[in-house]
Amino acid sequence: MVYKKRNIRKERVFALIGIILVIILIIVGICTYKHFTSTEYKLGKIGYSEKEITTLLKAEDKVLNKALDNEYDKHLIPLTKQKYFIWKNFDKYKKEINKRLEKSNKINYKDVVTKVNVKRNYNYYTHTEKTNMDKENAILVNKYYSLPEKYKPENIVDVSNWYSYGNIQLKKDAYEAFKKMFNAAKKDDITIIINSGYRTYEIQKETYDQYKTWYDEEYADGIAARPDFSEHQTGLALDIITYNTKGKDFENTDAFKWLQNNAHKYGFILRYPKGKEDITGYSYESWHYRYLGKELATKVKNSGLTYDEYYAYYLDKE
Ligand SMILES: [Zn+2]
Repeated sequence: MVYKKRNIRKERVFALIGIILVIILIIVGICTYKHFTSTEYKLGKIGYSEKEITTLLKAEDKVLNKALDNEYDKHLIPLTKQKYFIWKNFDKYKKEINKRLEKSNKINYKDVVTKVNVKRNYNYYTHTEKTNMDKENAILVNKYYSLPEKYKPENIVDVSNWYSYGNIQLKKDAYEAFKKMFNAAKKDDITIIINSGYRTYEIQKETYDQYKTWYDEEYADGIAARPDFSEHQTGLALDIITYNTKGKDFENTDAFKWLQNNAHKYGFILRYPKGKEDITGYSYESWHYRYLGKELATKVKNSGLTYDEYYAYYLDKE
């Protein structure tokens, strides 16, 4: 009787041990399965370091999926971290990085993103396209984005000699805004005068062709825009002077300082700022202003970006 009881107890102990072992095995199995199917494991297997994995796990899904679906890419994280990174440009960024790596092994990702966004990874007047005219006053015109062929804007009006030197025309919106700006400046004892406004296709062509004949194409491109690639042909751009100054001297006038602080309030931006020559494609021009409308001009001014950069990121991203 006693013997039988002990036997039953033994059997129960074995059964219990067996059950515990099975449970442990199941847990180990689940853990192993979880580990090998985990994102961390997959990323590690692709080649990402622990630090990179931590970053990727915190990144947006698009970045993480890009990492999971492709071979190891050490440029992925620094590129996607750039403020003005645009997904549709991803392959172009990579191409530009590879091009730069042939010359140097230090990559300035911010510069790569900036330049590719404004198409500056290509030479001027190559890879050009027609600009999107639906943007109206916000159209982008530069050495990559042209106006429609032999473009003639609507609503071009004559500017009164009260505001300008010579026979100048502007698009109506820009003119109305300029008048307001002129009067506001006058109240601060500042006189701003329009020196150049709308230029026709024909005039732009004549000017450009003349330079090309006198010098060569490269030199001509440096000093004049090609026809259909000039902002002046939109009727939305104007050159401003004040009494007794011209061109480069304008930068040192009170009128220029006033415009720096106030132009955006009337819808104008300084289109070719200092230090941004390799983005805009133009030398610094303290006198050249572009009408965008109050709201957009203020946004562009506050962003600290050139219009080329602003347009790429905020108006043309998708
Ligand atoms: Zn100009």
